Formats: sequence, C-alpha cells, structure tokens
Amino acid sequence: MTNGIHPHYTSPAMVDRQFLVQRFGKIPLGMYSVVGYSVAGEETVVQVPELNVCFDIGRCPYFALTSDIICITHGHMDHIAGVPYYLSQRYFQGMKPGTVMLPRELIGPVDAMLRGWRQIERQNTPYTLIPMEAGHLHEVRRDFGIRAIATHHGGSSLAYALINIREKLKQEYFGKAGPELAKMRKEGVEIQYRLEVPLVTFLGDTTAGAVFDHPDVQNAEILITEITFFDPTHKSKAKAGKHLHIDAFVELLPKLKNKWILVSHVTRRTAIRRARKMLAKRIGEEQMQRILFLMDFEGSREAGEIEEAGPPPADTAE
Ligand SMILES: [Zn+2]
Ligand SMILES: [Zn+2]
Repeated sequence: MTNGIHPHYTSPAMVDRQFLVQRFGKIPLGMYSVVGYSVAGEETVVQVPELNVCFDIGRCPYFALTSDIICITHGHMDHIAGVPYYLSQRYFQGMKPGTVMLPRELIGPVDAMLRGWRQIERQNTPYTLIPMEAGHLHEVRRDFGIRAIATHHGGSSLAYALINIREKLKQEYFGKAGPELAKMRKEGVEIQYRLEVPLVTFLGDTTAGAVFDHPDVQNAEILITEITFFDPTHKSKAKAGKHLHIDAFVELLPKLKNKWILVSHVTRRTAIRRARKMLAKRIGEEQMQRILFLMDFEGSREAGEIEEAGPPPADTAE
C-alpha cells in the first residue's frame, strides 16, 4: 500500500516481510539528510548522519548506532527506550563510547538505569551523559555546538539546535592587509565577531508556546517539528498530551523562516497522506514546497512504504 497507514490490517505475509526489514524515512535536504522513524506513542528517532547526531533514540534501530551523539528531548518511552541498547551495542561492536545529552532532571534516573544494565549484562558499558538545560550551548567542536531550548510538553522537555559557529571579520576591518590585522589582534583588538548559524533544529514533543519564538527554531535551515494531531476531533487529545494540532501549526507557520520544515510524530490515527492533504488545504501548495513529512516514504528516496501493521494507537504518553 502506498496511500497511508492501515493500523488494523495485518496479513501473515506482511508480518514475514516486515520481520527482517526495518523501514524508515530518508530525506536528502541540501547538504544534509534526515534519516528516521517517528510515529506518536510508538517510536521517534531522527538522525542527521552528516552531523553525527541523532535526536531521540526510539527503540534504537540499527542506523542510529552510527551517531556518536544522541540528544534526548524528554523521558517518554517512545523517545528514550533505546538508550541502553545504543550504548551497549556500540561497546560490543568496538565503537567509541556513546554520548547522551539529556535534560538535567533525567540524569539521575538514567544513570541509575545504566548502572543497572551494567549489572544485568555483566559488561562495563562506558557512556557519557551530558546534562542540558534550556539556553545551554554545548560546544562539540570550535565550529559546532548543540543548544538546548525549552519546549512545552510537561516535565522537563528540550528541543535541540545544531549550530555552526563561525568567526567572521568585523566589517570595519574589511580590506586591511593580513599583517596589519595580525598586529591588531596581538594588541588585543577584537577584529572578529562570532556568528552562529542554526543548521538543524529538532523540537521533539511540544505544544505551541515560546519555543516557536526562539531564533534557532525560526531560522534553522531545517526544522523538524511534531504535528501529532490533524483531525478536528483530536484537538482535546492534543491539549491533554501537550502536542501540536494542525490548527496551532497553521497559526505558527508565518513566523517560521526555515528552508525546510519536516513534520514528524503524526498519530497512527491519521493516515500520513491524509494528514498531508489536510495541511495542504489549509496553507496552500506554495507553502507545502518547503514542508515534508518524515514518514511519507513515497516522497523520500531509498525507502519503502510505511509499514501497514502496528499496535493500536496509544491515548496517553506519546
Ligand atoms: Zn512522543
Ligand atoms: Zn512525549
């Protein structure tokens, strides 16, 4: 099937076919690509291979193992379950220890869980946990950092922005010769300024709020946002679960200047093609040029269709 999700249809042949094949979206966007799987309440894992980062880890599908850094947005199981598997498999396969960035409030329980897993597996799995809080920029390298931004999902939840950091010559020094600039620098003159360019921002789960006013959210080349609910009758579900409903997204869209907006975390209750059509109807095809659905596999290269079989939709923690 290519026209959407059929959550209640499972044939034995299909189960066989799915058993060995893990399906996920793979979307090339300029210099970067986004690889991932995201269905509300089931699993969310979104990787940017070129930047060596994976946002959330879902159940840790195979492709996610290759990212040296994972950024956990919040503690719901569909986003965090794969953390111990990710760390253990990387160790087992001789890869360097994984780094997990996560909200500061989750450090204690996650560390306790990982210590528990060391005992269970009788393997001294190494790991690095980096506590993050809203506004904090973790500099991975001189030219690359990851900033946490507060989201609105109840408890402590964070978005993450991948930032290219550049040192640029101040305009007033344009045209000056190299040796002269070097001399000024030596004398302590600040001839450069710092320029931060948000490349990819991942919101995780969130309802509408101040996060959408953050410059790293509005200006990222690629914004990955949830829109969990599309049906008019699902508005109360969006409110209860602190998720985005299409109505809220349509209101927020004018302030988003992103080159691409990638929609994730769509509920299984709404077929992905139907969700896309509903959005197109609201905002027009011109706006839709920059909007893609992660799970709209037909529109992505080197990927199959969304799997037809799935668990019944979850009503609560998604
Ligand atoms: Zn979720
Ligand atoms: Zn959640």
